[in-house]
Amino acid sequence: MSLLSVKGLGKSFGGVRAVDGIDFDIAPGELLALIGPNGAGKSTTFNMVNGQLRADRGSILLEGTELIGLQPRQIWNLGVGRTFQIAETFSSLTVLENVQMALLSADRQVFSFFARAGEHRREDALALLAQVGMAEQAQRPCSELAYGDVKRVELAVAMAHAPKLLLMDEPTAGMAPKERNELMELTKGLVVERRMAVLFTEHSMDVVFAHADRVIVLARGRLIAGGRPSEIRDHPKVQEVYLGTGKTFERQDT
Ligand code: ADP
Ligand code: MG
Repeated sequence: MSLLSVKGLGKSFGGVRAVDGIDFDIAPGELLALIGPNGAGKSTTFNMVNGQLRADRGSILLEGTELIGLQPRQIWNLGVGRTFQIAETFSSLTVLENVQMALLSADRQVFSFFARAGEHRREDALALLAQVGMAEQAQRPCSELAYGDVKRVELAVAMAHAPKLLLMDEPTAGMAPKERNELMELTKGLVVERRMAVLFTEHSMDVVFAHADRVIVLARGRLIAGGRPSEIRDHPKVQEVYLGTGKTFERQDT
């Protein structure tokens, strides 16, 4: 049933237990939020799942396959994707070219394709862009896009190898509330349509409570709560760790 099953996962940096023995599961078609104050261990958790960091202990099973010890590229090949910021060198390329490059990479073709990229999987790239509402802007350079639209293209790029699990570390950072909600709605649509699982971190509690199917809460490397958004909102331990951080659970106008 679980797509990803994490057990007893831990990582220390010197004396700091950044992640201190956590267990969680993600099912296909689930949008799971990982929240917690700064320094709680969210990024460390992400980077152990995608292979950028090697766990000290525990297990990360993707459909029964142990990910710990695999290289990031191997983990990517098994179907764990993540969103990347479109690098400056790629921002001069059009929206369409960026997605075509991602498709080329997913096809594992060599990186000498600039001459041929023009036609490569053009229809597939346009279909992906349509899914994120960017088909009409396909011919524009990414450098000209509004920030929220760049984020949509980044999502299309991440979808190019059809991940089973997509990791998004603070996907809506720097976005206005309306754009945040739109991006998460779009993500939710992809989750439902493709039965893809998404693990994401997010600072805005409004976004978390409005869009996540389930929420798990990290504090000082430990999971202190997990449940539906409504359960987490009212959870005393969760309220406690957010006290004094300047973040509250009060709704803000979006
Ligand atoms: P979050 O993403 O929840 O803000 P992180 O996973 O980035 O938290 O960090 C968790 C803890 O691990 C923090 O105390 C942080 O200072 C520490 N940490 C993270 N990465 C490193 C690193 N590469 N070297 C040393 N300490 C690190
Ligand atoms: Mg982080």
